[in-house]
Amino acid sequence: MVATIIDGKELAKEMRSELKKEVEQLKEKGVTPGLAIILVGNNPASLSYIKGKQKASEEIGVSFKLEHLEESISQEELLEVIEKYNQDDRYDGILVQLPLPDHIDETAVIEKISPEKDVDGFHPINVGRMMTGQDAFLPCTPAGIVEMIKSANIEIAGKHVVVVGRSNIVGKPVGQLLLNENATVTYCHSKTKNLREHTIQGDILIVAVGRPHFIGADHIKEGAVVIDVGVNRLENGKLVGDVKFDEAKEKASAITPVPGGVGPMTITMLVYNTVKSAKKRVRP
Ligand code: NDP
Repeated sequence: MVATIIDGKELAKEMRSELKKEVEQLKEKGVTPGLAIILVGNNPASLSYIKGKQKASEEIGVSFKLEHLEESISQEELLEVIEKYNQDDRYDGILVQLPLPDHIDETAVIEKISPEKDVDGFHPINVGRMMTGQDAFLPCTPAGIVEMIKSANIEIAGKHVVVVGRSNIVGKPVGQLLLNENATVTYCHSKTKNLREHTIQGDILIVAVGRPHFIGADHIKEGAVVIDVGVNRLENGKLVGDVKFDEAKEKASAITPVPGGVGPMTITMLVYNTVKSAKKRVRP
């Protein structure tokens, strides 16, 4: 079997053009969606991610503001900046780019963002709403993965989903979202014994570990759908996923590439959440 490639770049393009139309309609009603990103310090990876988020926002017509703060800013001062954006009606979404410097408590920062503007979906209120199946800002990478699976017309209900990785931003929530879609979900992590015995059972296998080429064809059930979340830069500069793509595509029925898979969808879902938030400003 040779797998269908789930093209995240193409799907993201389609979603962005739909979002652009929605933003035009919002603007006719006097609402311009706004996204504020707060960056502390000069982490090069963060700067590059932010560039992608800015480009997508501007392409869709969302007004974008980068609040770039000194690495030395105190936690108290940072919380004050967040509060300023909580109160500012021009911004429907606030995102604090992670990671933060060691002297700042990430939990306190996330909890300071108004849950109504938490477009990353990391605030415990949004996590709780997602867990209980209520309307919420869904975390961008997991929400993008669900969109990709659905776009490929893959049935989720009743499928055995195996998730490798249990981080709060990818592994745990993607399993929860697919449980909400009536999948049966197994989580694997660094303490899992006999990983392969679990992964080989997955009708849908989601890999979010952060180790290049960690999962090979021998871990994959014949005909499975494989979603590779990993983004790893090799010493030669090449970007690769957590899955050995070339051999996995011979066994899977559908697979996401790296790059051009989950990444573009993550950014698109951030803008989607910002537009969703802005809709609340439209007067009936
Ligand atoms: P984390 O480092 O937070 O989590 C990695 C997870 O992998 C942990 O749960 C860990 O287990 C598990 N793990 C580590 N080693 C093993 C092992 N040997 N066997 C089984 N499980 C293992 O990473 P993230 O979730 O933040 O990200 C994962 C990958 O996805 C990274 O490459 C990241 O760059 C990428 N990513 C891509 C995004 C995109 O938009 N494309 C967005 C976000 C992330 P334990 O909990 O026990 O430590």
